Amino acid sequence: MKKIVIQHTSDLARTETWLKYRKGLCDSCHGTCCTMPVEVRIGDLVRMGVVDEFEAGEPAKQIAKRLEKAGIVAHFNFKNEIYTLARRANNDCIYLDANTRRCTIYELRPNTCRNHPQIGPRPGFCAYRPQR
Ligand code: SF4
Repeated sequence: MKKIVIQHTSDLARTETWLKYRKGLCDSCHGTCCTMPVEVRIGDLVRMGVVDEFEAGEPAKQIAKRLEKAGIVAHFNFKNEIYTLARRANNDCIYLDANTRRCTIYELRPNTCRNHPQIGPRPGFCAYRPQR
């Protein structure tokens, strides 16, 4: 398949520089969206296989504590019961392959990732950056 490289580099912090999303754009992208914090719910964590159905019934605080210790979750919002996935020192999501810049759990990825960029900081636009 022919790879189309677009001469555009977005600044992740400035949504006005983001590119209008279109099908196939991800093929040549560096995976910039996978460097943003990802908020997930318990259902996502079960699908991802990091929490089992039995543990899902336990207090959320307890689950968060275990996942933080395991380096899977970086933050837990007690009020909304929302977990934020851990990232590497360069902000890459822990599930992003550093070489291919592809998600290693794509079929099981959280809803936040599935909904991007339709739902996100600038709906319909993404922080496209060509792969090096
Ligand atoms: S779970 Fe996958 S799609 Fe979601 S941010 Fe991480 S690497 Fe990207």
